[in-house]
Amino acid sequence: NKTENQMLVIFGASGDLTARKLIPAIFALARDGYLPENFVVLGASRSPWSDEEFRENVVTESKHLREKIDESQKKMITGFADRLFYHELSDDQDSDYGPLKKRIDSLNSEHHTDSNYIFYLSTPPSVYGPISKNLHQQGLHKEDEGWRRLIVEKPFGYSLETAKKLNKSLHQYFKEPQIFRIDHYLGKETVQNLLVTRFANSIFEPLWNRNYIHHIEITNAESGGVEKRGGYYDKSGALRDMFQSHLMQIIAFVIMEPPLNSNAEQIRDEKLKALKSLRVMTDPKVLHDNTIRAQYISSVIDGEKVKGYREEADVDPESKTETYAAIKFFVDNWRWAEVPFYVRTAKRMPTKVTEVVIHFKTPHHQIFKDAGMSNKDNKLIIRIQPDEGILIKFGVKVPGQGFKVERANLDFYYSGLAENHVMEAYERLLLDAMQGDATLYARADEVEAAWAFVDPILEYWKNSDAKVHGYSAGAWGPENADSLIDGVGMWRNPSEQ
Ligand code: NAP
Repeated sequence: NKTENQMLVIFGASGDLTARKLIPAIFALARDGYLPENFVVLGASRSPWSDEEFRENVVTESKHLREKIDESQKKMITGFADRLFYHELSDDQDSDYGPLKKRIDSLNSEHHTDSNYIFYLSTPPSVYGPISKNLHQQGLHKEDEGWRRLIVEKPFGYSLETAKKLNKSLHQYFKEPQIFRIDHYLGKETVQNLLVTRFANSIFEPLWNRNYIHHIEITNAESGGVEKRGGYYDKSGALRDMFQSHLMQIIAFVIMEPPLNSNAEQIRDEKLKALKSLRVMTDPKVLHDNTIRAQYISSVIDGEKVKGYREEADVDPESKTETYAAIKFFVDNWRWAEVPFYVRTAKRMPTKVTEVVIHFKTPHHQIFKDAGMSNKDNKLIIRIQPDEGILIKFGVKVPGQGFKVERANLDFYYSGLAENHVMEAYERLLLDAMQGDATLYARADEVEAAWAFVDPILEYWKNSDAKVHGYSAGAWGPENADSLIDGVGMWRNPSEQ
């Protein structure tokens, strides 16, 4: 695909995400020859920085960039930094945007970026609306000279209602095809590979339904706690922070019907249909029986005492915010009728891992049932991170007399393909937006469909006295989480191969 000359304007240029992810991603794109001939970055935020200070902070003196590059790439840094500029905004937003527009115009004519602009909103979500409004007032949404795109960082709302409000406000100023809602999980090779595994392999697709699949389990575990983000996290929680966004995207890829082709709209239409087929839980009894929330409590990990969630900085000592969420649900459509899905996400687990486990049914007639094979032996495990890859577990005959069956593994690891540099999620997604490809970005209706499923759970947790369980930091969640899944077995321990 062709990447046209363009300017990337980053709002929130003095923030963490810009230094930690965005600039290193753009550097990697420059290093690997993906940037167009004429390309500049204009950072904008309220910190009173000069161009030179911006370059120092995010490039030449940035530990984040240095961590990612080797000696041979260091000489590229100065040339790269020269493509970066900075514009200071004040607190008074409306009057700021005339001078900003002038700066954009002058950089555009000086650097021949053909009036193609991406506006990246990496600020607190409360200013997404005002920034879009001001860009619109300056005519920066109009595509009569070049194209205009708006990348919006998560969170996309805090509830269904606020997500709708945010979409409505963005749609006042930009058209939906101009809006790119970023979810970095969609930039991960292994998430995209879910589609290839399913739709490019006739050994999987015929089995991908209720006739052969017993249940599906998805685990997203982080080993860390809330670290410095206690204030943010306490207002959000595991369900909003991980489930509503990243995990819903993974679920959509796992359950969607085959799209007509791999175009953005076809794929996103199928994802939307999939998300709309999730059985929304509204009955308090159903919510009680199918959802579990918990918080980590103080414990000792590797000889070191770690704090419990309520003792973390900026967390309310009486907080009910969940750091663990497990949900059982069903998908009401032809393919998935009555197949249970079990999804859990948490902080302070024994290891950092995200995986999808497809548990297949036992063969209808078991000849070898006394020979060591159990109904849990056929599994397809898609490892999203780390050690990205795919593992198939199946039974093989133990050599020798009789028919003793033992479990064997077939595996594929992306690291085995490591000849080429595998793009990081932000590199891939930024390049897609630069080329106008929205396949891996979330559409407004998808985001709202995901909230429509999550909202009643949050409401139930907020308004009922549903228990907030405890689990020791470093354990696989609260004890009663096993009861959620015990109808079909037990949670897989992702540390086991
Ligand atoms: P951050 O470190 O707090 O940075 C926010 C930035 O916004 C700062 O540069 C701040 O700079 C700027 N800002 C605040 N008010 C502004 C205004 N009125 N106009 C222009 N700039 C303004 O936050 P962050 O971690 O970089 O996150 C940015 C966004 O990305 C958030 O929406 C966050 O939810 C999302 N996100 C971040 C991560 C991550 O890993 N950090 C991951 C996923 C999503 P000044 O004070 O100088 O204006």
